[in-house]
Amino acid sequence: MAESHNMLPKGNITRAQASKTEVLMRDIIEQKSMNNKRLTREEILYLVTNLKNLEIREWIYKTADSVRKKYMTDTVFLRGIIEFSNICSKSCLYCGINSRIKNVERYRMEKEEILETCFQIKKNGQTTVVLQSGEDPYYTKEKMGEIIKAIKEQTELAVTLSVGERDEETYLYWKNCGMDRYLLRFETSNREIFKKLHPDGDFDNRINCLKVLKKIGVQTGSGFMIGLPGADDNDLVNDINQCRELDLDMIGVGPFIAHPETELKEEFIKHEIDYITGVIAILRLTNPDSHIPATTAFDAVLEYQGRQLALKRGANIFMPNSTPQKYRKSYQLYPGKPCVDESGDDCASCVVGRITSIGRTIGKGPGHSMKRG
Ligand code: SAH
Repeated sequence: MAESHNMLPKGNITRAQASKTEVLMRDIIEQKSMNNKRLTREEILYLVTNLKNLEIREWIYKTADSVRKKYMTDTVFLRGIIEFSNICSKSCLYCGINSRIKNVERYRMEKEEILETCFQIKKNGQTTVVLQSGEDPYYTKEKMGEIIKAIKEQTELAVTLSVGERDEETYLYWKNCGMDRYLLRFETSNREIFKKLHPDGDFDNRINCLKVLKKIGVQTGSGFMIGLPGADDNDLVNDINQCRELDLDMIGVGPFIAHPETELKEEFIKHEIDYITGVIAILRLTNPDSHIPATTAFDAVLEYQGRQLALKRGANIFMPNSTPQKYRKSYQLYPGKPCVDESGDDCASCVVGRITSIGRTIGKGPGHSMKRG
């Protein structure tokens, strides 16, 4: 194997010895990932620090793709996402629909309209609906419960919710109404950064929500944003480690993209697609049997290609936008979000082409967790 350039001999270690150590490191990582053994912090750090090394990065992509194939097969499951309300009581600094943003038209979808959209999702061969919104208290425990029950009774879709932090009683109630899964990103494992970005949030409460969801038997997804202001390689290693520690059914990550209406726009460093898809690859190496979506924000970094690249480098889930077209321009958490002018049907047919063009097949069943099923 050729030598890399950033691990040239230091002190009295010869070039050949350095190269040998590195090859050994890659062998260990490959063996562990292929056998779903946990990587050490040092091994994750090796992967993260070498994401800018072209040769090692190619190896990371290739190995992640093999691990994905072994554990998750060539099947890509489709989860149609409905962004059903952009009303939010929180003021997360990074988010384009946070409560302080004035320049956005606020909307809510009622049960009937959500159900209509679910029928479209089902018709288009998507087997899960993901209901996402701001933290909108209008959707009480009971109101949300009614929506979940109606979807389960009338469509049999798997139901995922992503509506923020609620209490255990509410999560349990929704589970009993038929909720299958829940997505709640921890956003960053760095408490300082978390505090700064969430003036009205609490890191421990968020982690506790994830533990509660797992405890009551809901398939649980979490993740973080790549490249938040102030985060360094060490934080990225911790973020990746945190995902494995939480033993997640689904891991959703995406690049942070500064919204022009937020104060974070000054601190924005745009990461290359090869770097951020490298993070997907490392997550696959560290979590062989978790579902990993190619999230929408990858397309905001590389139009039309970003999500395909993520799928080729470890991801196995695609979440077509199924939000009715008229609401899409009002759910822009970050600029450059794709498909704002498309309809749910447009996205549904486009996505099939994107997946089959890279030699993958569309999942037919609900695509439940490989860990708990
Ligand atoms: N209210 C729900 C849904 C939040 S939106 C909740 O709290 O879970 C879904 C995700 O979008 C967030 O978890 C965050 O990781 C991501 N997001 C928000 N603003 C973003 C930005 N500017 N750039 C990239 N991702 C962003």
